[in-house]
Amino acid sequence: MSSAKIESPLLEPFGGTAATGGLGLRDWIGTRGAYLAELAGLGLPVPRGFTITVDACRSIGKGKMPKALAAAIDVALNEIATELNRGFGQPKSPLFLSVRPSPVTPVMGTMEAILNIGLNDQTVEALAKSSNDPRFAYDCYCRLIQNYAHVVLGDDPSAFDDIVNLYKDEHGYVSDGQMKASDTRDLISRFKAQVESNGEAFPQDVTVQLHQAIAALVRSWQSPRAKTHRKMHGVAENSGLAIVVQVMVFGNLSDDSGVGAAASRLADTGEAMVSGDFLRHAQGTDRLGKLGKGVVVAELRQIAPGAYETLTQALSTAEKAFRDAIEVDYTVEQGALWLLDARPAPRSTAARLKLAVELANAGLISKNDALMRVDPMMLNQMLHATIDPAAKKDIMATGLPASPGAATGIIVFDPDEARKLAASGVAVILVRPETMPEDIKGLQIAEGVLTTRGGMTSHAAVIARGMGKPCVAGAGILRIDTSEETLTSPSMTLRKGEIITIDGSSGQVMRGEVATVKPTVSGDFATLLSWADGVRRMKVRANAETPQEARIARDFGAEGIGLCRTEHMFFEGDRIVAMREMILADRERDRRAALAKILPMLRADFVELFEIMAGRPVTLRLLDPPLHEFLPEAGGDIEAVAKALGTGVTTLRRRVAELSEKNPMLGHRGVRLLLTYPEITDMQARAIFEAAAEVTKTIGTAPIAEIMVPLVVSREEFDLVAGRITSVAREVEEETGTKLAYLVGTMIELPRAALRARDIAQSAEFFSFGTNDLTQTAFGISRDDSARFIGEYTSKGIFARDPFITLDVEGVGELIELAVERGRKARPGLHLGICGEHGGDPDSIDFCEKMGLDYVSCSPFRVPIARLAAAQAALRKT
Ligand code: PEP
Ligand code: MG
Repeated sequence: MSSAKIESPLLEPFGGTAATGGLGLRDWIGTRGAYLAELAGLGLPVPRGFTITVDACRSIGKGKMPKALAAAIDVALNEIATELNRGFGQPKSPLFLSVRPSPVTPVMGTMEAILNIGLNDQTVEALAKSSNDPRFAYDCYCRLIQNYAHVVLGDDPSAFDDIVNLYKDEHGYVSDGQMKASDTRDLISRFKAQVESNGEAFPQDVTVQLHQAIAALVRSWQSPRAKTHRKMHGVAENSGLAIVVQVMVFGNLSDDSGVGAAASRLADTGEAMVSGDFLRHAQGTDRLGKLGKGVVVAELRQIAPGAYETLTQALSTAEKAFRDAIEVDYTVEQGALWLLDARPAPRSTAARLKLAVELANAGLISKNDALMRVDPMMLNQMLHATIDPAAKKDIMATGLPASPGAATGIIVFDPDEARKLAASGVAVILVRPETMPEDIKGLQIAEGVLTTRGGMTSHAAVIARGMGKPCVAGAGILRIDTSEETLTSPSMTLRKGEIITIDGSSGQVMRGEVATVKPTVSGDFATLLSWADGVRRMKVRANAETPQEARIARDFGAEGIGLCRTEHMFFEGDRIVAMREMILADRERDRRAALAKILPMLRADFVELFEIMAGRPVTLRLLDPPLHEFLPEAGGDIEAVAKALGTGVTTLRRRVAELSEKNPMLGHRGVRLLLTYPEITDMQARAIFEAAAEVTKTIGTAPIAEIMVPLVVSREEFDLVAGRITSVAREVEEETGTKLAYLVGTMIELPRAALRARDIAQSAEFFSFGTNDLTQTAFGISRDDSARFIGEYTSKGIFARDPFITLDVEGVGELIELAVERGRKARPGLHLGICGEHGGDPDSIDFCEKMGLDYVSCSPFRVPIARLAAAQAALRKT
């Protein structure tokens, strides 16, 4: 037999003296085959065998073994038999085989193996003789018959279990262990009779056994059930299958035999320590396949110390070779360890970070590789409290995972009540159909927020993300009854004051308190992020308006504030009263007087933001929402507000009616409002510049204020607002004797602005893409109502992703591309950023890198994610 024949393209041998393949051959010999070849190549103990290639398996077609493949298998088997001095089907020193699937892309819960092939009425006696306990051989034979009948012939395996139970009853046995050898042998004939009763005898020809087993695995792989299963797991229906044929090692041979799975590291911490399970005196099919926590392999250490030692060394060797944490399936046969499969070990995010950093520090991978190994979104797990995976959950509903983290508290429907309760130390979850700007106070003190309407960029979602507060949004299955003060799902009704837990990472809403795990930011996390900072080109800023948010952002590494939505500052404390006075005033003079009351408060806020950001740029956006949002809702607390303002109820009601709009999102907001009430611009600009002047005096350098005009569509409207800002700056410079450092730019958040970018950039000193509104207006889909139907679009594949979460590169992206090109044509080097929610989404960040933006800005808790995503984007581009 020449080795040239063995190197037939139909088979790839491994182990022993066979040549080794590698992971690069995965498409050809499947994942198991590729790993086994690698492990054998590393000199690790792998039972001798060969992999039937994907193409060869395809040639098996409807269960018929092609002649060429049968011949190649024959040659390979002879080679192995000679090497081991045994013979397949020979009554003397028989060789036994296992047949296992080796899919190119493994999917959990697919296809069984067939073990103990080669046993027949003759070879079983040889095996019985060679082992201390003949029951082992008879048991193996029974297992083969049952396994074969099930996988090859499609018989019901439980019929065999019934036979065993009946036999035990007849002979007065309570457990298998008691069975006499003669009785186990008797079972064989009953098993064979059972097979025959279904029409076909169990084959005594071992080659038939082998060929049929191989063909059965191929058939099973091609079955409609298997195809659906693959599809469900996102694997292509026609994904390839190879098959591994391997010499049997028996984990059920003796008391120092067994099977298990073990990993090179602990899954939760990533600590380099062998962990896994071990099942004594068992065959692979007996294993549940669940990894323990390092405790179970301890049993292996006691029973077979040599095997444990080999396992430890093998895992360490494999980890170095694969440059990854590895998990193996193994069998111990009479104290000797054999490896039967390998794969990347399961791991938490913390473990993933630790491994990436350790491998890079050990020089096994580059720092850039380490950066590419961590999915930025996984970092979420490190930044928020999470539900304890072991906790029991009574799930009430599942909404959108709008802001990560878990929170527990009592149900409160009213924001004012939430405030009062929180002030007395009660943890509350604010539950609202949707939130409005005036609910901010309630949001600020709540542990978390749950809404039954609204999407990922709804008010509640955006604000909660900004605050780093858990939020489940748009849980449409829940009904809020404000008069009864109940929250109802199809399965339960909870009252105000009852405890719920929300998980903003999964969208789950649960009854009662559910245990959580506190976030830990490990040293490896910081290390990896510092490597990311060394690689990325784009800066990362944060969307923040309160000092608390700004501090969190800075601590997470934000390089400035990319969006301060100043309207949130107008709702605070007494400011809303002054704001309402301003809105109700008939004359400009009265409006200015009302605004003057807000000015010192805003100035103090800006001073704090500038100080926290210590020289980093701070982008302050002028007031954006429509004015009616500052007034009480019609039918709401109009009387109380009228009283507080010293105005008539009728007047207030009239004004509310006058200001209310059919489409507030497309109405009198942003730059339009600033044009009709220029005194608002003047007051805000003054507050910013006076704050900047004050900080310049205290810290010695001028803070960088980037003043941003929202909702611009034309250069003319921008010029009018920018003109007022510049003249206020001049005034403040003169009054304070301070040289101010500031830029006046605009948001590009409407399609017309993108199209007119060349013109607008003649005046605007920077652009920041407001992709929330740009998505809303490009699609003509309300960002607050999209949750009701966007799921239909994504599930039907009309949209690959929710465009409010991941930037729609084809449409909105093209508008951005146009604006970048046109803007920079008018003003080379125009500073460009993004401040829509997409600024914290890794795929969108990748697009921003391609567009050459200068920075992304996202909510504070997304800053670390954006730092890593920006680094990966830069690496991908090079
Ligand atoms: C935007 O539209 O993308 C944006 C950042 O502004 P806002 O979300 O406040 O409308
Ligand atoms: Mg906007």
